[in-house]
Amino acid sequence: MSLDTAFERVSLPLEDPFTISRGTQTEAENVIVRITDEGGMTGVGGAAPSAHYGETAATVEAVLPDLLAVVESVGDPHAIREIESRMAAAIGGNPAARAAVSIAVHDLAAKRLGVPLHRLWGLDASAAPATSYTVGLDETERVREKAAAAVEAGYPILKIKLGTDRDRELIDAVRAAAPEARLRVDANEAWTPREAVAKSEWLADRDVEFVEQPVPAADPEGLRFVYERSALPIAADESCVTLDDVPAIADRCDIANLKLMKTGGLPEARRMIAAARAHGLEVMCGCMIESNTSIAAAAQLAPLLDYADLDGSLLLAEDPYDGIGMGNGEIRLEGQERAGTGARSE
Ligand SMILES: [Mg+2]
Repeated sequence: MSLDTAFERVSLPLEDPFTISRGTQTEAENVIVRITDEGGMTGVGGAAPSAHYGETAATVEAVLPDLLAVVESVGDPHAIREIESRMAAAIGGNPAARAAVSIAVHDLAAKRLGVPLHRLWGLDASAAPATSYTVGLDETERVREKAAAAVEAGYPILKIKLGTDRDRELIDAVRAAAPEARLRVDANEAWTPREAVAKSEWLADRDVEFVEQPVPAADPEGLRFVYERSALPIAADESCVTLDDVPAIADRCDIANLKLMKTGGLPEARRMIAAARAHGLEVMCGCMIESNTSIAAAAQLAPLLDYADLDGSLLLAEDPYDGIGMGNGEIRLEGQERAGTGARSE
């Protein structure tokens, strides 16, 4: 058997500029990998590199030739374990680049077998939780409008970015615009531990479900301080990057938030989910701003999750790839007729 590989950088404009406590982005640079078998069947996978974790489209492009050389050398898309372990040995770090290849290999393997990926894994499609829709930081009135528009579009769960000196004003505006919505907040490391505990009190009064990454990942004792005193459950995102972070956060948070662009692939994501469960944590899967070449793959994991935050493609002005339906926030794996991840070019 022989496999052909290729990759391509794409610049994907966002529907609206997206701001979190660390900065603003107006477009997402993704790198799309294609792996094609002798019969002309192609698996696709996307990398959505995050500068926060040391990757850019350029670093992804720099390491993909070595990663794809592994795929071509193994030559069999069903030899997933061998491909993944040889990729990890060839290239350390660079998780978004490895994730793109991992996704493309899984997509091709499942397509060759004619089954959706979650079926290959034996998962119950009906167990997928709904995804949240993220509202970034902005002027308070714009945040109110965006929250109202998301509710109007049918999304029942909103994730609100915080980490400003207007946090209370922002959450009050969102609550007024979306009285029935399930709300989650993400401070992206912006608060001090004491500030986070104080904010958890009034966030609980506004019926927020949980607080994501209140304090810097570099302050694990601060995270523990918040966890022990918070009025709300705490999710760890920047504090939960790879498998070996899971035991370290187990007594410092309630929810582990994994992302394919942090784990470097699908098998590692499933290992992290298992490890988090073994440590008594709930599990969320989040994303960067990503096309369906990677979001559709993350959606295949949804039956294993307590919470999904897989709106990466929904935040794009246009996605060149169609994926798993997420109307009304429902991750529609049930009845998925497409084999593989479900990503298809429009
Ligand atoms: Mg987050």
